[in-house]
Amino acid sequence: MSALIATRALTKRYGSHVTALDDLTLDVEPGIIGLVGPNGAGKSTLLKILLGLLGPTSGSATVMGMDVVSDGAQIRQLVGYLPEHDCLPPDVSATDFVSHMGRMSGLPAAAARERTAEVLRHVGLYEERYRPIGGYSTGMKQRVKLAQAIVHDPKLLLLDEPTNGLDPAGRDEMLDLVHRTGTEFGIATVVASHLLGEIERVCSFLLAIDAGKLLRAAPISSFVEHTGTLGVELEDGADLLAARLV
Ligand code: ADP
Repeated sequence: MSALIATRALTKRYGSHVTALDDLTLDVEPGIIGLVGPNGAGKSTLLKILLGLLGPTSGSATVMGMDVVSDGAQIRQLVGYLPEHDCLPPDVSATDFVSHMGRMSGLPAAAARERTAEVLRHVGLYEERYRPIGGYSTGMKQRVKLAQAIVHDPKLLLLDEPTNGLDPAGRDEMLDLVHRTGTEFGIATVVASHLLGEIERVCSFLLAIDAGKLLRAAPISSFVEHTGTLGVELEDGADLLAARLV
């Protein structure tokens, strides 16, 4: 059996100055896998290469044994992708958009309609499914992005910063949904995030990358073992908190 995802000396350069992935070699087995690293670490680039949307500069990668350069179309039939940025048409309903995406992935019309109802219920948008997406909150839009990623019953999900733009309560809901999607549907999932504290709750295995290099690949337990130190992650107000602590 080949690994779910395998890369060998995978390198991606943009132009001659930016090295987004630098000689990356890793093997990923099924589960819920966190891909963690600061902004600019190369997470999105890696996901796009795995989808066959971007070509590597050198090195190679396979997804379920298929080569990302020659078998991109087959890979995309078996993989669901939640892109980082807003990519939803505002004047279309969730039902129409998700079933269209299902058709694009090869589902017959009736099956696409059925699966759309099922996945919109799963993500908690069943009641709102006929409203145009433009009127949705950020959290609802993220859930539409998740629904279109799972409509064709993929074997692997690639989620790029699924909690982007959400408030803490929205993040918790989204992470819970990601966890339920991975476990209830049994879909292997890679979740990219710049917040370790956030994905450690839903992942069983972590890949940490920085500047396109692999820092560590290990079960989550080894990242969060006791050190006698308490880490506090802040989105803003760090100076104020530091001053108060002093
Ligand atoms: P992450 O998803 O971890 O934030 P990215 O893969 O988006 O990281 O980016 C990795 C590096 O590649 C960054 O330095 C980013 O500025 C650069 N980069 C990403 N996309 C492009 C592009 N299309 N053209 C040029 N540079 C890019």
